[in-house]
Amino acid sequence: MKPATFAYHQPGSVGEAIALLRADDEAKLIAGGQSLMPLLNMRLAQPTALVDLNAVDGLDGVRMDDGHLVVGALTRQRTLELDPQATANLPVLARVMRHIGHVTIRNRGTVGGSIAHADPSAELPLVVVALDAEVVAEGPGGRRTIAARDFYEGFLTTTLAPDEILVEIRLPTALGGAAVGFEELSRRSGDFALVSALALVQRDGDGRVAQARLAIGGANPVPLRIAAAEQLLTGATQDDALVAQAADAAAEAVQPLDDVHGPAEYRRDLTRVVARRALARAIAGGEEEAA
Ligand code: FAD
Repeated sequence: MKPATFAYHQPGSVGEAIALLRADDEAKLIAGGQSLMPLLNMRLAQPTALVDLNAVDGLDGVRMDDGHLVVGALTRQRTLELDPQATANLPVLARVMRHIGHVTIRNRGTVGGSIAHADPSAELPLVVVALDAEVVAEGPGGRRTIAARDFYEGFLTTTLAPDEILVEIRLPTALGGAAVGFEELSRRSGDFALVSALALVQRDGDGRVAQARLAIGGANPVPLRIAAAEQLLTGATQDDALVAQAADAAAEAVQPLDDVHGPAEYRRDLTRVVARRALARAIAGGEEEAA
């Protein structure tokens, strides 16, 4: 199928893009087009106008600022994955981002597009929630900063207002040295995950877990932090029984729905599996999985 007819705008600044959104309630932003174009082609989305962000100045790039890796919304996913500052300060990014579709998709898809699209199975929303990152939105009244945990409202839904644009993402690097465990299950390599788990484990000088993070994607309409699992593991050393308990806590916390991929209980079981594997890997020091 081909998209329905739409007007096309290519603003040169964020202000111009906001004005175009305000002028037409049915207009939609487009960045990399890797999620929106299929929706347009299948006519699942029929905006009256597309506001293309690709010519907007100053929306891409990666920099360090006050303990944060700051990523412009228009930065291509592949650029961030390979960025030396990102690799040095937050190795978790490259580790997780290579699971986003395929390289050709990451070459075009943007970091902001993925975070704003809010697919519950997407990798970048999981990372920003696990890291307690912030997203910066710009609208007619200026800029505001939103904690990632408050940004996701529901399936493909965020707290962005219709006339707001996601302009940058601020990722704290405090957990840059944490051991990483990432696990996702999908039917074929490159497919969206059915369920995914990201675990981060930071140890203190005595080898005890000073901080643990566990986030689950794909099981709920939004990425979910599992506070009970994080509490269980804090202060632990190496304990398989605790990892199993924490994985059970994740399976209890999620509220999956029946869907075309299987019943809700199947996804709950998968949650337990990915959580256990991700936590076990992070607790063991976060060694790389085989490519
Ligand atoms: P677009 O498609 O241009 O836009 C997506 C949505 O975000 C639109 O609603 C748009 O209005 C909005 N938007 C875009 N930029 C902004 C902004 N700055 N501010 C506010 N709203 C904005 N993703 C994964 O995470 N994991 C996968 O495994 C995966 N597999 C894929 C496989 C295939 C075959 C394809 C085609 C895509 C896959 N994707 C996957 C999606 C891909 O990562 C997209 O790039 C991403 O979801 C959207 O980014 P984009 O820049 O392409 O956004």
